[in-house]
Amino acid sequence: MVDYKAVGLKVGIEIHQQLDSKHKLFCYCPTTHREIEESNFEFFRYLRLKKSEIGEEDRAAKEEVERSRRFIYKYYDTTCLVEADEEPPRELNREALQIAIQVAKMLNMEVVDEVHVMRKIVIDGSNTTGFQRTALVALDGFLEVEGKRVGVATLCLEEEACRKVNEGEGFAVYSLDRLGIPLVEIGTEPDIDSPEMAKKVAAKLGMILRSTGKVKRGLGTIRQDVNISIRDGARVEIKGVQELDILDKIVEYEVIRQLRLLEIREELKKRGAEVNDELFDVTEVFRNTKSKIIRNKTVNAILLKGFAGLVGKEIQPGRRLGTEFADIAKTFGLGGIFHTDELPAYGITEEEVEMLREFVGAGKEDAVVMAAGDAVRVERALRRIAERAKFCLVGVPEETRKANEDGTTSYLRPLPGAARMYPETDVPPVVITEEMLKVEIPELIEERAKRYEKLLPRDLAWEIANSPYFRLFEEYVEKLQPTVVARVLHTAPAYLRKEGIDVGVLEEKHFRMVLSLIADGKMAKEGAEEALKMLAQNPDMSGEEIIEKLGSSRDVDEFIKKLVEDKAELIAERGDGAFKPLMGLVMKEFRGKIDGKVVAEKLRKAIEEKISDM
Ligand SMILES: [Zn+2]
Repeated sequence: MVDYKAVGLKVGIEIHQQLDSKHKLFCYCPTTHREIEESNFEFFRYLRLKKSEIGEEDRAAKEEVERSRRFIYKYYDTTCLVEADEEPPRELNREALQIAIQVAKMLNMEVVDEVHVMRKIVIDGSNTTGFQRTALVALDGFLEVEGKRVGVATLCLEEEACRKVNEGEGFAVYSLDRLGIPLVEIGTEPDIDSPEMAKKVAAKLGMILRSTGKVKRGLGTIRQDVNISIRDGARVEIKGVQELDILDKIVEYEVIRQLRLLEIREELKKRGAEVNDELFDVTEVFRNTKSKIIRNKTVNAILLKGFAGLVGKEIQPGRRLGTEFADIAKTFGLGGIFHTDELPAYGITEEEVEMLREFVGAGKEDAVVMAAGDAVRVERALRRIAERAKFCLVGVPEETRKANEDGTTSYLRPLPGAARMYPETDVPPVVITEEMLKVEIPELIEERAKRYEKLLPRDLAWEIANSPYFRLFEEYVEKLQPTVVARVLHTAPAYLRKEGIDVGVLEEKHFRMVLSLIADGKMAKEGAEEALKMLAQNPDMSGEEIIEKLGSSRDVDEFIKKLVEDKAELIAERGDGAFKPLMGLVMKEFRGKIDGKVVAEKLRKAIEEKISDM
C-alpha cells in the first residue's frame, strides 16, 4: 500500500459534462447523436497551423504537425456550415449559458460580469477550425465531500469536439454530430489527496450536474480529466475517463507509475546510463528474417546504454517502460516497437538479436529499441523515443495520457504549453445581467433520495431520485404503491436490459402508459416487464394492444401456476425431469396462442421455484 500523504499526492479533477440544450453552442443544429452510416457527405483537411498561433515552443503542436495526418470529417443532415468551418459561428447559445450559471451557483461560484469567448488551440483534428471555443463563466467556488472542502477553480462553457470514429496510419476519421454540443468544464483545485477522495469528488460533481435535469446522460456524455502529481514526480494529465468506477484505480496506478519511473531513474544513475543520439539503420540485419512483422520493412534502432532489464520493467499492471515507448511509436502511426529485454520473440531469432547487438555496439548492460515500417515514421518515432528515454535519467515527464479501461494509462502527447488561448472575434461578448443571475437552485438528487428513502429501500430510492423520470414517480405514488411505481420506472427496465432488450428507446410516454394501465386497473403490476418489453420492441404500440397481448400471457401464467401445484408430486419425484411431460400439457392448451419459447421459460422458472420451496 502506498502512503499517499507521504508521497505528497495532489489530484485535481476536470469534469466535462454535455448539456441537454436544444441547439448547439454556436449554431442552431440539434444536439442529437448520429451513426456514421447516416452521414451523407464527407470532406477532409490537413492540419495547418500558423507559428504565431501555436507559439514556437509548443511541443504538443509540433509533435502533431510531425505526424502529418489527414483528417476526414463525416457530415450529416443535422450539421451545418458552422461545424464544417465554412461559416462563422452564431451568437453564444443563451439556454446553455443559463444552465452554466445555474451549475455555477450550485457550486458557490462567482459568475463573471461579461462572458468572452476564447479560442483554445486543438491540434489533433478533433475541431475543424483547429481550435475549441471556450468561455469562462464563473470562478472561485467549492463543494463539500464528507465534511472536506474542495475548491472549484473555474467553470467554462465550451463546445464539444468531434467524435473520433476511426484512425490508422496517417489518417483519422471524425464525426461532426458531436462538434458544437455545449458542455460545461469544471476544474477543481488540486485539493484531493487520495484515490478514494478523487472518486467521491467526481461522483458528487456528477450528481450536482444531473440534479439540474438539463444535462445529457449515457456513455460519453460526461468525461473526467484527472491531474495527478506526487513529490519529485510531475504533473500528468489523464484524459477521457468515462467510467467513474475506475477513477480511484487511475490515481492509484499513476502514483505507482511515477514511483517506478523514479526507481528507474535511480538505477540508471547508479549504472551511469546514457542514451546514444545515433539512429542505426539495421534493415540489413533482418534482410533474411522469418519474422513477418519486420520483413520487407525499414528497420531502425537506437542504443540505450545501461538500460538492460529496465525497458522490460513493469511500471503499471501489465505495462512496462517499453510499453511507454510503444505508445509513442503508435502516435506516429506505427504498430509498436521491439526491444532487447523481450527478444528473441515475434519470430526474431537469437542469432538476429546477436547480430543487432553487434551492429549497434550494445553490451550486456545495454538495451536496443527498434521500430519497423515506413522510413519517415520510423525515424521520427525513434528520435522521439530516444528523447523520452533520455528523460528517464531526469524523472517523470509532464505529459497528457489517455485512460485505458483497466485503469492504466497510455502516452498521448506532451503537456500543451500554457499560452494557447486568444479571443474569438466572431462571437460578441455577453454581459451578465441581474436577470440572468436569478436562477432556480434545484433540489439535489441526494436530498431527493433521502425523501424517497421513507417510501422505498435505500438503493431503489437513489435509483429513482437519480432517474430522469422522478417526476413520474412523484405523480404516481399518489395512486400506486411506491414499490410498484419503482418497478415500472427502474426494476423492470433494469431487468430487461440484462436480458439484452434495448430499453434505451423507452421514453417518458411509455412509462406513463404502463403506469396508468396499472393505476386504472387494466393491467396487473406483474405485467410491467412484459408490457415494457413489448414497447421497447415496438414503441408505437397502444395501451389497448398491450392489454390484448398480455391477456393470453396472463392466462398462461395462471395455468402454469395451477399445473405446478396439481403436479407437485411428479415434480418432487422427478425434479427437473418433470419439465418435459408438463411442457406437453401446457402446449396442448396454448399451442398457436403463445410463443413456445416463452412458455418453456415460464414453466422452467415455475418448476425451479417449486423445487426450491420443497
Ligand atoms: Zn450547425
